[in-house]
Amino acid sequence: MYCKKCGSFVLSDAKYCNECGQRLTDQLESTPQPAYQPQTYQDMIEQPPAAPSRKPKSYAGTAILLLIAAGIGAYYLYYLYQNIYGGSAGSGLGTMLAQALIMPHMAAVSLAVILNIFAWLALSRGLSLASAILYTIAIVSMPIAWANTVIPAVLCYIAFGTLGSK
Ligand SMILES: [Zn+2]
Repeated sequence: MYCKKCGSFVLSDAKYCNECGQRLTDQLESTPQPAYQPQTYQDMIEQPPAAPSRKPKSYAGTAILLLIAAGIGAYYLYYLYQNIYGGSAGSGLGTMLAQALIMPHMAAVSLAVILNIFAWLALSRGLSLASAILYTIAIVSMPIAWANTVIPAVLCYIAFGTLGSK
């Protein structure tokens, strides 16, 4: 058995530890639990290095914002094309007028979506702003349809702001 106090091996019938003099009669059968586990060199070198105080900035969230904006914009563009060239509309003067009025709006949305996609691919601050402005122009050119482009516009402005804080 081992001495409880100092951990030395002592004979099982010993009453006192040879090394430290600890009385052993009341602690027979007890096994020593080393209080201190020395750290091996392997443990030390496998410890991860201290985390850097500043994490590198990630634009994953911004990329998702731009992707959502592009998705909404593209879906709205598809919806516009379906409504104008879908065939249900007649060929009267009213329809032509409506198409003429909607053209600037569609052009702005089309360009906004294209720049939006490039802004997403390149995570470009300038392209984010450009698409945000074009979405805004789309709103201004057809205020009645503001609800369709206000979300991508806001998302692109947010992306512009986020990328700007580099
Ligand atoms: Zn001892």
